Amino acid sequence: MSTFKAWVVDKGEGGQSLSFRDFDEADLMDGDVTVRVTHSTLNYKDGLAMTGKSPVVRRFPMIPGIDFAGVVESSGHPEYEPGDAVVLTGWGVGETHLGAYAERARVKGDWLVPLPGGLSPAQAMAIGTAGYTAMLCLMALDHHGARPDQGPAIVTGASGGVGSVAVALLARAGWHVIASTGRDGEADYLRGLGAAEILDRAELSGPPKPLAKERWAAGIDAVGSTTLANVLAMTRADGAVAACGLAQGMDLPTSVAPFILRGVSLLGINSVTTPQPKRREAWARLARELDLGKLAAMTTTVRLPDVAGLAEEILAGRTRGRTVVEVG
Ligand code: NDP
Repeated sequence: MSTFKAWVVDKGEGGQSLSFRDFDEADLMDGDVTVRVTHSTLNYKDGLAMTGKSPVVRRFPMIPGIDFAGVVESSGHPEYEPGDAVVLTGWGVGETHLGAYAERARVKGDWLVPLPGGLSPAQAMAIGTAGYTAMLCLMALDHHGARPDQGPAIVTGASGGVGSVAVALLARAGWHVIASTGRDGEADYLRGLGAAEILDRAELSGPPKPLAKERWAAGIDAVGSTTLANVLAMTRADGAVAACGLAQGMDLPTSVAPFILRGVSLLGINSVTTPQPKRREAWARLARELDLGKLAAMTTTVRLPDVAGLAEEILAGRTRGRTVVEVG
């Protein structure tokens, strides 16, 4: 019997519990590729899974962790051979399929992406689901036809994982970036990533009006709720906002006014089941366009046994940028 170390979420009569323990390789779920996980990350959804604050985990026991980088150990998939470096985000890993906070993972080869050229496994996970989602937001804005000469771009939840990468990517693409944050102390950090202006998130937290003064041409929103409603109300005519998150809440107390009176577009982003061609395009663009110095500046590293201690921290908005989890 072969075992490996893993964080495991169990469910009993007292509710959900989390432990760091030996896991039997024979209990891994079906898949045609087995990976030795070297790095994972901490995402908002991992915080929800580990604490049980939202019903993210839908199979017990569950190994949490929604993304990993690692090395193929064995493969029955035509594209992968032992020794290949791979990356995985999404597909229900860490939710319905045993996840990344473990020394081994067995998944479908169709879910994997080869480690993009130019990125180390640690850098790929410094990007992780959050950074890859920020790129999907930028691609959605590009596809819409949004351009930096149309006006500024707002990023909400700017000090968080999605937000930090979004600030760096938009600035690199030539946008005048307005970074919205609730943390006074992170202004220098955000300017270092490329933000031109800092906006106190309190300005976006009041009861939203149907329309307000036009302030930006584009937005990337990781926060949802009244923040997104205010962002939409302040978006210039024919502008677009890519919405990917719910850090403030899942509600959206807005009206149709921004859409029908200003032609504003709301672009929904779901990173979990993105088809392979778009997934690979996003990773290729990240490898080309994300400044690795800025990536390093937004990244903190922890060891696998320590990640559970950060679950409450990310949900409370107290982690900055991205957190890499060293596994192997
Ligand atoms: P983080 O916790 O790293 O970032 C979220 C940020 O939102 C915080 O840092 C904080 O930024 C801000 N925030 C937190 N709470 C509140 C609040 N109550 N009101 C206003 N702002 C708040 O999380 P991630 O970057 O990992 O994820 C961000 C969101 O995106 C999550 O909701 C996540 O589930 C979602 N997501 C969705 C994906 C998809 O496929 N659609 C994929 C990846 C993430 P600050 O302190 O700067 O104000």
